Amino acid sequence: TTAVLSGAELAKDIRARVTATAAELTDAGTPPRLAVVVATDDESTAWYVRSIAKAAAKTGIRCDVVDLGADATPERIRGELTALSEEPSVHGIVLQTPLPGGACLEELAAAIAPEKDVDGANPVSLGRLSAGLPAFAPATAAAVLELLDHYEIPLSGRRAVVVGRSNVVGRPAAQLLLRRDATVTVCHRYTRDLAAHSRQAEVLVVAVGRIGLIGAEHISPGAVVIDVGTNPTEDGGLVGDVDERAVTGLAAGLTPVPGGVGPVTTALLLRHTVESAWRSTA
Ligand code: NAD
Repeated sequence: TTAVLSGAELAKDIRARVTATAAELTDAGTPPRLAVVVATDDESTAWYVRSIAKAAAKTGIRCDVVDLGADATPERIRGELTALSEEPSVHGIVLQTPLPGGACLEELAAAIAPEKDVDGANPVSLGRLSAGLPAFAPATAAAVLELLDHYEIPLSGRRAVVVGRSNVVGRPAAQLLLRRDATVTVCHRYTRDLAAHSRQAEVLVVAVGRIGLIGAEHISPGAVVIDVGTNPTEDGGLVGDVDERAVTGLAAGLTPVPGGVGPVTTALLLRHTVESAWRSTA
């Protein structure tokens, strides 16, 4: 049987601890504060940002959504990130994607002070992560590891395969797995014979954004599968990259979509924010 590796309970636990820490910080005169910079009128982004703001409010974190509009220039966005980086009362800064045409996330995120880079978007954060130095990992990549740890999946010495190599998910997830002494293979759009690689995985992390990419032929019996993909369906739902029906009975565990990586990601963004606020008091 395939265990459902839900993220709901874990996210709830994380939020409860964040709430306690946020209250302590507020009592001590450092109310934690997160700023989310938005430069798009994309509806699903707006929905996601509202869900962050709501979760922040519930845990006692002030969350400012800074909407620069879909026609914001890179200079305007960079200026805002620099100002927020210099503002002592702000502890976390997120630059939301998509960005206006021509703007590059990595270039702009370089303006986010690394100590406030709670979604690990500044290339310096990814570099530090790769070098084994302390840094915030992108919340989604961190959520993958948090789920594996929560379900007590051993990593040291085991074969992990990551499908996808974006700077927000696949690449940092691979670095985090490497840091935990897994033997890591990274697959991507140019990988020949994906199934031959993914079948080697004891732990398979899939972050591509393609419905049905991973089927029964892609996994070995007993693999633990973390499905990061979120693909909107015609009926307004959400599905992952893994064909749930095909791998059920074969995989040892699979994260559901929705309700797997997603809620843990949001909770970790908040945890990173109180961690940053805490460090700012030291
Ligand atoms: P991206 O488009 O930046 O990267 C996709 C990656 O998949 C690329 O590295 C590409 O090389 C690889 N790829 C494309 N086609 C492939 C194929 N046929 N075989 C193997 N690899 C292939 O996307 P992203 O930002 O990394 O996001 C990936 C998915 O994760 C998306 O569905 C996104 O919506 C989802 N996501 C979820 C969360 C969450 O909180 N749950 C957060 C971020 C992203």
